[in-house]
Amino acid sequence: MILRAVDFVQLSDTGRERRTNEDNAFAEAPLFAVADGMGGARGGEVASGIVVETFTGGMPDGVAPEAGLAELTREANHRIHERATSDAERSGMGTTLTAAYVGDGEVAFAHVGDSRAYRFRDSKLGQLTNDHSLVGELVRRGKLTEQQAEEHPQRSVITRALGPEASVQVDSFSVSTQPGDVFLLCSDGLTSMVGVETMEDILRESDSLDDAARRLIDAANENGGRDNITVVLFRIEGVPGDADGQADQPTIVGEKAPTAEDVAAAAAAASPADAGAPRRTAPLPRRPDSEAPPKPRRSRRAASLLAVLTIVVLIGVGAWIGSRAVFFVGTNSNGIVTVYRGLPFELPGGLHLYESYYTSGVSANELSADRRKRILDNHLRSKSDASDLVRKLELGQVGG
Ligand code: MN
Repeated sequence: MILRAVDFVQLSDTGRERRTNEDNAFAEAPLFAVADGMGGARGGEVASGIVVETFTGGMPDGVAPEAGLAELTREANHRIHERATSDAERSGMGTTLTAAYVGDGEVAFAHVGDSRAYRFRDSKLGQLTNDHSLVGELVRRGKLTEQQAEEHPQRSVITRALGPEASVQVDSFSVSTQPGDVFLLCSDGLTSMVGVETMEDILRESDSLDDAARRLIDAANENGGRDNITVVLFRIEGVPGDADGQADQPTIVGEKAPTAEDVAAAAAAASPADAGAPRRTAPLPRRPDSEAPPKPRRSRRAASLLAVLTIVVLIGVGAWIGSRAVFFVGTNSNGIVTVYRGLPFELPGGLHLYESYYTSGVSANELSADRRKRILDNHLRSKSDASDLVRKLELGQVGG
């Protein structure tokens, strides 16, 4: 049995008073993050967007989770700082970052600023992070009560952020986890509007993480919604520890294979900032690398073979990178409508160029033949396009 974040969701809302949403979130198990940006000329949006961009690159190889997360956080700081110093319009921009990585029996965190992480266990919500804010420091030193802090005029002044300085001090720590734990990462737009008891009640009463995220945001808006509100939730579950497990295979409907133009068009249409769409994916066990690279022999024939092989591998890697930006809709092995990231292809040797990205609540059997043909076409789409389509399907809003 190994512990995994099987179910997770991210949801972000502009709130009732702000015109733009400068928060951003990242949720691709086992890596999660919430970033609350600040700065004029949309700098906040840019700064928190750079966090997502950095996290999309994944954890550094060969480093323990805590150290890896801290490294990723410093990398994001570096990128934001570079941009802020080279682009006068973005000068002074910054962002908070609260990030989590689900490892082996524990969850590692990296934290800078006043976004927060909580663990919900036995119906109790426990805060895991310390706010790097003026009032947070004063509360810890006993100079302010929690109540006074909530009403303090300088409550939104933070003492640490990514971006303003060339280096940043990152809080790194890990907490133990067990099946059933739910972790919450959120921006201060939630915690400044909704008390911890209300948050607890919502988590206790919700049927699903999607439901909980929606209700948390609604509660913040009902209490005024003075700031952007962002919520990431993930639930830890025990799954059989079979490292050889197979990911779901999509049923390829329709025979038209996408062309290079399709790929380019879909990649161009893919929107990078798409924090609004909730996501869930099944766990994707990695296959062990079974094929060791062939050993070159010292003959000319072998050398040219190796050159050809190298080119093939490079093309494969290029296609894989390109495929990360495109999505298609199909059905998984259980006949459930699923959004896949990548290309609807399989390479020789069973390597596929896609992964399950979002499993909907809709079975393909529920759709008319006409709709099935129209929707499950494996046409390449942008992330928002594919997510919207499946979302509408779930809400029963697709006609025909
Ligand atoms: Mn905020």
